[in-house]
Amino acid sequence: MTSASNEPRPAIGEDEAGGLLTIDLAALVANWRTLAAKAGGAETAAVVKADAYGMGIDEAVPALYAAGCRTFFVAHLVEARRTRAAAPDAVIYVLNGLLPGTAAAYPAHDLRPVLGSQEEVEEWAAFCRAGAGRLPAAIHVDTGMNRLGLRAEAALQLAEDAELLGAFTPSLVMSHLVSAEEPEHPINVRQIAAFTHVRERFAGVPASLSNSSGIFLPQAPHFDLVRPGYALYGGNPTPERANPMRPVVQLEARIIQLRWAPDGETVGYNGHWTAQGRRRIATLSVGYADGYLRTASGTNLKSGGEALVAGVRCPFAGRISMDLITLDVSAVPEGAVQRGDKVTLIGNGLTVDEAGKRAGTIGYEMLTDLGERYYRRYLPAGQ
Ligand SMILES: *Cc1c(COP(=O)(O)O)cnc(C)c1O
Repeated sequence: MTSASNEPRPAIGEDEAGGLLTIDLAALVANWRTLAAKAGGAETAAVVKADAYGMGIDEAVPALYAAGCRTFFVAHLVEARRTRAAAPDAVIYVLNGLLPGTAAAYPAHDLRPVLGSQEEVEEWAAFCRAGAGRLPAAIHVDTGMNRLGLRAEAALQLAEDAELLGAFTPSLVMSHLVSAEEPEHPINVRQIAAFTHVRERFAGVPASLSNSSGIFLPQAPHFDLVRPGYALYGGNPTPERANPMRPVVQLEARIIQLRWAPDGETVGYNGHWTAQGRRRIATLSVGYADGYLRTASGTNLKSGGEALVAGVRCPFAGRISMDLITLDVSAVPEGAVQRGDKVTLIGNGLTVDEAGKRAGTIGYEMLTDLGERYYRRYLPAGQ
């Protein structure tokens, strides 16, 4: 057993919660193992930024650590400190790099910045020279994202700069793929080639390129370490093929009331959904304030989100409001659904990827938007 608990995070009772979030830590661990097997000899890290994509750092990190994961990536220092508390001797990298003046926080918690620009490299080297010692840091090389990372030419120059490079310990050289979920996209091959060229100049420094989807590319650009995030949490890293990952999240919403919308009347704000015939409407106690994106609203012209009610797929009817979703449950036998019942918004075959698509976005955004009002239940990892 890991430290998983069935304690909800906010002080909220299961019966009073509008929504219930069940997070399967055994599935999370199984996904990490699937990715580790796929990565072959490379080390398999875990990306746990944004509170482990909404799953909870405090629960996800100990489960992954117990399974054998020893390297974690976060975006912010505060996430790194929480990860450190959950995994006392793991290696922890901060992807967003070194904000001015924050260097001292790294050795204080044994954290490593991912240095993403020449300025950051220089600030880190100066901090190390000023007495901190040759502290480890990753070097981020930009091979096409134009977001973070030293340009390849600058990285090649840095590789020759013994004085700058000698001030600290480069512990990882990494880059990030632009379109790994599209295996045919020509930029994959270009980035792999550019990265291979740069990493060869950093002799003896481990290299990392692949996110979740990168692990599945035909070129298998695993290098020394892979950095999956989304696939750990059940997202499909191979959108054009069946999902090799196990679902981790189940999201259920409670029905507050059932009512009849008369033929021709509208449901919800601004009247964008009109009942065609008398329709039975279930009002759910989840809304956009819970992170269920309003862009999943259903109108007569554009279908939106769906929920499973007693095993039947039912469409959202009208605008999602702050705290409520209205659902057309006319297809469900009248006696099979009652006030207080739970319906499934994610789970039982309604995937995170599909929910994202129905909201006009990606599953990543659905996961990381999951709100704080849910009753959270963690299924233990076991071992
Ligand atoms: C978020 C992130 C990852 C993980 O990406 P997934 O697509 O979620 O697997 C890996 N590397 C970097 C630099 C990232 O920002």
